[in-house]
Amino acid sequence: MAGDITLTMIKPYAVTKNYTGDIITQINKAGFKIKALKMTWLSPLQAEQFYAVHKDRPFYGALVQYMASGPIVAMVLQKENAVADFRKLIGATDPAEAAEGTIRKQFGTDKQRNAVHGSDSDENAIIESNFHFAIKDQYAY
Ligand code: ADP
Ligand code: MG
Repeated sequence: MAGDITLTMIKPYAVTKNYTGDIITQINKAGFKIKALKMTWLSPLQAEQFYAVHKDRPFYGALVQYMASGPIVAMVLQKENAVADFRKLIGATDPAEAAEGTIRKQFGTDKQRNAVHGSDSDENAIIESNFHFAIKDQYAY
């Protein structure tokens, strides 16, 4: 069904700290199925492209540099209401403001190194999934 996928990336610092397994466990326990997964390393150009929507924001340059500074784990996740439910599971952008029990609260370090990305709309979930996996909309069944 359309609208049931989201794209996440476990960000470099969380991967380097070996949080990948614990984060994936919590994602699965929350009812998300993993439809695609890879560990990879974004080039600065890829990080620029992925976050192009933020290019005029003051944090853009640092964010791009950070996202290309180490390995990431990208996943397409499927669940009913995936985008909203995943953003609830990860919590607020700033781990210090994220609710207790959320992934960013548990595994985030600061506003930039906030452990995970989550798509912000169904449309962007498809765009971002295709960025990493070239899936077209085959998971949106
Ligand atoms: P979210 O990831 O919660 O959707 P945004 O889309 O607003 O948040 O920002 C994208 C990413 O940019 C954030 O996840 C975070 O890593 C980084 N970021 C956002 N705001 C700041 C900030 N004020 N300072 C440093 N990094 C930031
Ligand atoms: Mg966002």
